Amino acid sequence: MPHSLDTVFRPRSIAVVGASRRPGTIGHQIVANLLRYDYQGVLYPVNPSATAVHAIPAYPSVTAVPGPIDLAVVVVPKEHVLDVVEECGQVGVGALVVISAGFREVGGEGVERERRLRERARHYGMRVVGPNCMGVLSNDPAVRMNATFAPSMPPPGATSFMSQSGALGVTILDYAAEFGIGVREFASVGNKADVSGNDLLEYWGADPDTRVILMYLESFGNPRRFTRIAREVSRRKPIVVVKSGRTLAGARAASSHTGALAGGDRATEALLAQCGVLRADSVEDLFDLAIAFEVLPIPKGERVAVVTNAGGPGIMIADACEAAGLTITDLEEATRARLAEVFPEEASLRNPVDMIASATPESYRVALDAVLSDAHVDAAIAAFVPPLGIRQEDVAAAIIEAAATHEDKPVLAVLMGREGLPQGRAELREAGIPTYIFPESAARALAALVRYGRWRERRPADTPAPRGDPDRVRRILEAARAGGRSRLLEPEAMDVLEAYGIPVVEHAVVRDVAGALEAAERFGYPVVAKAVSPDLVHKSDVGAVRVDLRTPEELGEAVADMLQRLASEAPDARVEGILVSRFLGGGRETILGMTTDPTFGPVLMFGLGGVYVEALGDVTFRVPPLDEGEARDMVRSIRGHALLAGVRGDPPADEEALVDAIRRLARLVDDHPDLVELDVNPFLVFEQGAVAVDARITLAE
Ligand code: ADP
Ligand code: MG
Repeated sequence: MPHSLDTVFRPRSIAVVGASRRPGTIGHQIVANLLRYDYQGVLYPVNPSATAVHAIPAYPSVTAVPGPIDLAVVVVPKEHVLDVVEECGQVGVGALVVISAGFREVGGEGVERERRLRERARHYGMRVVGPNCMGVLSNDPAVRMNATFAPSMPPPGATSFMSQSGALGVTILDYAAEFGIGVREFASVGNKADVSGNDLLEYWGADPDTRVILMYLESFGNPRRFTRIAREVSRRKPIVVVKSGRTLAGARAASSHTGALAGGDRATEALLAQCGVLRADSVEDLFDLAIAFEVLPIPKGERVAVVTNAGGPGIMIADACEAAGLTITDLEEATRARLAEVFPEEASLRNPVDMIASATPESYRVALDAVLSDAHVDAAIAAFVPPLGIRQEDVAAAIIEAAATHEDKPVLAVLMGREGLPQGRAELREAGIPTYIFPESAARALAALVRYGRWRERRPADTPAPRGDPDRVRRILEAARAGGRSRLLEPEAMDVLEAYGIPVVEHAVVRDVAGALEAAERFGYPVVAKAVSPDLVHKSDVGAVRVDLRTPEELGEAVADMLQRLASEAPDARVEGILVSRFLGGGRETILGMTTDPTFGPVLMFGLGGVYVEALGDVTFRVPPLDEGEARDMVRSIRGHALLAGVRGDPPADEEALVDAIRRLARLVDDHPDLVELDVNPFLVFEQGAVAVDARITLAE
């Protein structure tokens, strides 16, 4: 079935409305680009006062065009756009690319103009790219359309690319042309009045000739739809995103730890990683990744071998690999023996393999073949610095020959030298070996391949997330609202957790010292006493938490002292009772949390907890829903994971208990959209089991 975007990317005829004879104008440049790059369909320049543009007959209006128009590229002044759209609709144009600016981006009447543009186009069933964009491009041999005003055309390839910024789109096309990066289709989406990044993702996801999708994003129009489409498309082909604009951070002053730790960008990071989307840090990085994904197989693991003709580059590459999360693996004994037969004593035959400056093209062939045959090696990087008396083209040919016999293992080349040693580069690229000038670029690209491979291997959750008791939670929330509170009292928050099966410390709320003593008698010492107050956020800051109370005397004294201190230091704080709980020694402190991002909605957090949580900042974020693998990934991806896995003879903490609690939390958050912030700090984890000893929940106002 034809897709509605086919008329955008493979039109049989194009009208350029606002085609111009004047050099330097966009209306001139677009017609020039269509001609220069050999558009395969019929072209109709439309201009009320010219008989010809670029020596092609021009028409005074779209209604005067003699044949059917698939695509109209609109470059007229903003005041005339709506009239043109109306005419296009009447003559049955298939789709519009509106280059003209002066719409939503200028505010005021521009907003209304854009609304009417969308409304008229919908009325006639025309798709719209833009307004305020720089056009579209297709390198398909049957189309060959450059309907942009970019000064260059990238060579054909298997990468499709969308840019939310027009200016960056031009830069990127330039860059692609200069570095020979193949582009299949391109669109600059401008204000996204109709066609969105998500639409393109879906379109290119289904396009068999697009192998890699690149996106320059400034915002997510509809993050939930993005998540759904990206998850599905990433299974089939890689999506690489440069996301700019780190302005998502919630403006709302955060009362929870989670809120304070979750800058908006971390939600973006989490969302992209969960969808298998690879994030590039810069436009340069975007292309470094793209050229790798376009040609290389996905490696089975992260173990790399490096082959070089100089020690320095070998070390630089090894460092860059380790920094990117790859492993410079130990070679098998047999591989080292094989290398020892052919290389001089001065060569270093451990990984990185340094064949020294006397290396010949044949040395590269032998050494690469040896490391690629090694069962410990998943990928190889061949690095070359030019010595005297050997031809780069010959080295390139040797690398190609060796790589060809190991098609399942990616081989990347680092050609260090000015401009990346152009001789041989094209041949390498042609043979499926991406080349880089800098070690870091190659390492990051390879690391991205590894990450993508890991993501794709993960199976979707096989066990459903545990259920909770939504009615019980609803009743607690209603009671709080009835009491005029948007922040739950600690015992209420604990009840909410319990309703979803998240283990909570045994506790009781009492009125006075006598009540506390009686509760402690039931739980057994040692105990903890805390003030319950709607007005205290971080209780320990004001002495409202007394831990490890071992005797009735200690408990009685602590409670009396706490109440007295509160009365003098926080006289306005209402004290609703005293929470007495078991004191649980020996646990490791983690934090479970949730905050609401203005763009993404709920974001879950896990990390090392306790009172220093903000100082440590060792936390990770995910966007619900979560499968089991993602919950486990959260636990394992924090920097301090070693502390949980067990260091210095400590037994490992109960990972299953953490994974289970994270999944239950995700469920809770999903079921109750009016929870806007939640902190369990600490969530104590033991060798067996884990328990919440503190809980804080905020409801939407
Ligand atoms: P807040 O975070 O409001 O200051 P908490 O209830 O988290 O108060 O208590 C402060 C600290 O006391 C916790 O981070 C934890 O180290 C310790 N703590 C509190 N309750 C217990 C308990 N039941 N068992 C062990 N340690 C506890
Ligand atoms: Mg706490």
